[in-house]
Amino acid sequence: MKKRILVIEDEPGLVLTLTDRLASEGYHTEVAEDGAAGLARALGEPFDLILLDVMLPEKNGFDLLRDLRQHRVETPVLMLTARGQTLDKVLGLKLGADDYLTKPFEMMELLARVEALLRRAPAAAPSPDAYRFGEVHVDFRGAEVVRDGNPVELSAREFQLLRYFVEHRGEALSREQILSDVWAYDDVPATRTVDVHVAWLRQKLEPNPRRPQHILTIHGLGYKFAG
Ligand code: CA
Repeated sequence: MKKRILVIEDEPGLVLTLTDRLASEGYHTEVAEDGAAGLARALGEPFDLILLDVMLPEKNGFDLLRDLRQHRVETPVLMLTARGQTLDKVLGLKLGADDYLTKPFEMMELLARVEALLRRAPAAAPSPDAYRFGEVHVDFRGAEVVRDGNPVELSAREFQLLRYFVEHRGEALSREQILSDVWAYDDVPATRTVDVHVAWLRQKLEPNPRRPQHILTIHGLGYKFAG
């Protein structure tokens, strides 16, 4: 599964360098070029890590970080500060940054910090061998699903999606995240594909697919598996 990194930075050259390098290391990156847009992205979608510049148009990195933590978004933040701004570093850490790097920095140094922060972040719950919710029993080893005593036929993709939901139960998952993790963009599907597969899963697994109890819709974002 690709880790998602939000880059909030307004220098086009640095944005290009960062996104190129992070992508070549296997990360999925999204970019916001001012503080207001960055905050909206960070609040609206789940990310595994945020790279946050301090000096930004619209809203500076400190204000953004403060707002983020006030909204209880605990995504690890690596702050990018200008040379010699020691006060910046102290203030950033006080506000809840997890680490900082002084510009200009070596890309290897940045990658090492990124890796360390991602390792520290809590991993998704490991996949259990079996899982039960409502009338449904899922045997992950045997790839079998039984509902109320009757076997349920799932396509390979539906089964993958169900496993993904179980592994991320309780988490708000955006359509884009589900697509990139479950489909890995290999057949270039639209986000609508996620909705279609969720509808099929609900049809097969929910007591009342029109009023889902397990695979919940989060309006404007995506889905959450409630277990
Ligand atoms: Ca800047």
